[in-house]
Amino acid sequence: MALKTKDEYIESLRGMNPTVYMFGERITNVVDNPRLRAGIEATGSTYEAAGLEEYRSLLVTNSPLINDQVNRFTLPPSSIGDLVARVKINRLLGGRVGTCFQRCTGLDCLCALSIVTYDIDQKYGTEYNRRFLEFLKHVQKNDLACNAGVTDVKGDRSLSPHEQPDRDMYLRVAERRPGGIVVRGAKAHQTGSLSSHEIIVLPTRAMRKGDEDYAVAFAIPTDTPGLIHVVGRSTLDMRELQGCDTGNTRYSKYCPTVIFNDVFVPWERVFMCGEVEFAGDLVMKFSAFHRQSHGGCKSGKIDCMVGAALTMMDYNGTSKVSHLRQKVIDMVHRAETLYGCSIAASYEGKRQPSGTYFIDPVLANASKIHEGKEMAEAGRLLVDIAGGFVSDLPSDRDLANPEIGPLLYKYLQGAAGVPVENRVKMLRLVEKLALESADTVSDIHGGGSPEAHRVSILRESDLEGKKGLAKRLAEIESWR
Ligand SMILES: Cc1cc2nc3c(=O)[nH]c(=O)nc-3n(C[C@H](O)[C@H](O)[C@H](O)COP(=O)(O)OP(=O)(O)OC[C@H]3O[C@@H](n4cnc5c(N)ncnc54)[C@H](O)[C@@H]3O)c2cc1C
Repeated sequence: MALKTKDEYIESLRGMNPTVYMFGERITNVVDNPRLRAGIEATGSTYEAAGLEEYRSLLVTNSPLINDQVNRFTLPPSSIGDLVARVKINRLLGGRVGTCFQRCTGLDCLCALSIVTYDIDQKYGTEYNRRFLEFLKHVQKNDLACNAGVTDVKGDRSLSPHEQPDRDMYLRVAERRPGGIVVRGAKAHQTGSLSSHEIIVLPTRAMRKGDEDYAVAFAIPTDTPGLIHVVGRSTLDMRELQGCDTGNTRYSKYCPTVIFNDVFVPWERVFMCGEVEFAGDLVMKFSAFHRQSHGGCKSGKIDCMVGAALTMMDYNGTSKVSHLRQKVIDMVHRAETLYGCSIAASYEGKRQPSGTYFIDPVLANASKIHEGKEMAEAGRLLVDIAGGFVSDLPSDRDLANPEIGPLLYKYLQGAAGVPVENRVKMLRLVEKLALESADTVSDIHGGGSPEAHRVSILRESDLEGKKGLAKRLAEIESWR
């Protein structure tokens, strides 16, 4: 059977040896580092849930490619049902971890590659799709987690890749050898790169003549020599390292900058190399899949935020206050609109020539635009409901201090009978759900900046069809 348990997943990461830096120091034990472990635990939930009886039928399915049971996080969709399941599992897991579980980005790369490698082969007679399917078998048989190496550091945003004064601002092929290519560059915001076994690299934008060295896609293990993961700061990271004031939330997200310092990639792992006209389609397909994914996980996160809001109302003695109940409704309808858009994108999906199903990109982008604004509103409502202690609650260490602890326990009481510890834990969770930078910024920029969603909507919508509707009603027959 091709399924790993959560423990087997964590042990498999222990067997890897990536080059990692964090806060100026080399990290040699990734799995036991509290900051990174919180991210690994979040990804681990995708393995754990697949083993639970109640979720198994949703998360586990048969893969015709290896004729075995696989975790859906390794399965490009080959039906509308598969597209719908993507959103449902993301909502389930978003609610279980309350942050990003860091496994959808890799799946979204697999989905895009399963379509575009086939299309490139049709045009050029290349063998990218065969190589990709061999890689996919490896991922499915070993139940691997992959991360998405898409966002280049980009240097001067007004210049195309080959126009940059420093040629390495977009990841590029620096050398071609008989056995493979050597790549150089850096990918930013690499969600869960150290929770993953493989990094899948795609171009970050459409490309044109002159950009051939930059139109490259491939997959390599995350501990390949020359890969350097530099873990960035985020609002709550020191608390994880100190093991204090986290309110017991086990899960977290981190997004390193990953430097490719002349990394060798064997040809067997190269899925695009120089076909500039397909770079745009590859990133568009990835982004659309990823924006659909967000509709699932972020609605799951709002589920968790609603639960936190209601619990805080119980703890504060405000559960019957009508304006707060209205605000809970405002949170719920935001989650359902987000989810509804993503589910609709799935039901409107279409079969592609490779056999993979692609979602409706307009609906997926509409979902992401909604997320960019409405997650912030859901967070604002949650903070409104929970109260000001979200921002400045005394530390667990003060609560444990024998001199002031008893006074704090007295003054941090809420509704009668509610243990102070529970109120403190829930306030910490609210702080994390509403303010953790690594996850809340992704509501805006994850899967591309808001303008990218808008441009996608304009490009993918049937604008001429809509003009035709208006002209028909106005009885205008000419093209003008
Ligand atoms: C928490 C988080 C997690 C992420 N996870 C991943 C991941 O796992 N993998 C991955 O590959 N990426 C990931 N990303 C990256 C994400 O896709 C990018 O942040 C996003 O595409 C924006 O790119 P940027 O950050 O370089 O900002 P910029 O591209 O610099 O954008 C900043 C602003 O400038 C505008 N802009 C930039 N260039 C132009 C231009 N030429 N013309 C007009 N407007 C322009 C943008 O629209 C935006 O409003 C993640 C990001 C975040 C915040």
